[in-house]
Amino acid sequence: MAGDALPVAEWVSDYDVSQITIGVVASHSSLQILHGARQEGFRTLGICVGEERRKMYSAFPGADPDEWLILDDYKQMMDYAEYLRERNVILIPHGSLVEYLGPKNFQILSVPTFGNRNILEWEGSRERQRLWLESGGCTMPRVIEDPKDIDGPVIVKYAGAKGGRGYFVARDFRDFRRNVDLEEEFTIQEYVLGTRYYFQFFFDPLPEDGYQVDGMGSKKGQKIGRLELMSIDRRDEANVDEFYKLGSLRDLRDMGLEPSFVVTGNTPAVLRESLLPEAFRMGEGAVAASMELEGAEQGMIGPFCLETIVTDKLEFRVFEVSARIVAGSNVAVGGSPYSDINEPGISTGQRVARCIRKAIEKDRLLDILS
Ligand code: ATP
Repeated sequence: MAGDALPVAEWVSDYDVSQITIGVVASHSSLQILHGARQEGFRTLGICVGEERRKMYSAFPGADPDEWLILDDYKQMMDYAEYLRERNVILIPHGSLVEYLGPKNFQILSVPTFGNRNILEWEGSRERQRLWLESGGCTMPRVIEDPKDIDGPVIVKYAGAKGGRGYFVARDFRDFRRNVDLEEEFTIQEYVLGTRYYFQFFFDPLPEDGYQVDGMGSKKGQKIGRLELMSIDRRDEANVDEFYKLGSLRDLRDMGLEPSFVVTGNTPAVLRESLLPEAFRMGEGAVAASMELEGAEQGMIGPFCLETIVTDKLEFRVFEVSARIVAGSNVAVGGSPYSDINEPGISTGQRVARCIRKAIEKDRLLDILS
């Protein structure tokens, strides 16, 4: 895989680890990443395009970076790798960084990056995600291969669509045919009726205490690190969330309206407590299985999210995994009902910086970077 050959150890051996700077693209979940880095005593660097973006951060002095790198285009980051390394930068990746740079550039960007970049090829394909999650014991929504077999509500997802844009619901083949864009690559999934919960987990391979993940396959019999639940959110999606207010799906169709799933924000959620063991079992399975994925080497490191639906039979379906910090964690910038139990007020952003700080103290930075 593209990321395998990166000389991370060489880069890090040139670093002054007492002067690490946490770098992040100023978007997505950067406020909590910058704020958390500062709380853990790191210098911070924000990367953005245009002055307007930078100005917004002056509204949040607790997160406003110590230093800015202002570019004309995010792809210029590729040319600034040496500049960033000279400043002992560790980049914290998020969905916007990967999107702005493009997955291929991200995998070869010559700057030490928190977490495991090699997992991207597994995360970036629906088929591979399925292999990964199912091998970790998660149940996913059924896939319908032939549109003629649609025999109940389905959701049609386009490849590369982000934030649910363009997805649609169909009840039968006629519905499907009327809405589908055959030019695009698509997947048809059973529409799972239930309540959505997006779990923001954190996997830290260094500690030997807490909820230890049991390895599988080549790591069977080993405890491989600590799994934590940072927070849970639910996405606000326009217009599906409010659709019911206008009448039945049939009435809406008569008005020429179709539900859409465009993410506009997030709200915090808590789970019925008796379901938490199952949530941890799924998180543990996803981590343990990630260590066995071909080319993914160290597997999952740091924040990740399982996107789930719980049915009225109290069964989970996992429809997606994100292998890095998700914007849903922004609901818990000041802590969550789960993270607060262990340490009041800690965000996922601060948890990332804490992981880096502890790894520096233990001289194990290479275990958490790629
Ligand atoms: P991202 O990559 O930003 O997480 P995406 O574009 O890959 O998002 P999904 O997360 O797969 O999209 O789905 C978007 C939304 O569609 C979900 O938040 C959920 O509301 C709905 N959804 C997805 N899959 C299903 C399903 N099988 N059944 C019911 N609803 C679903």
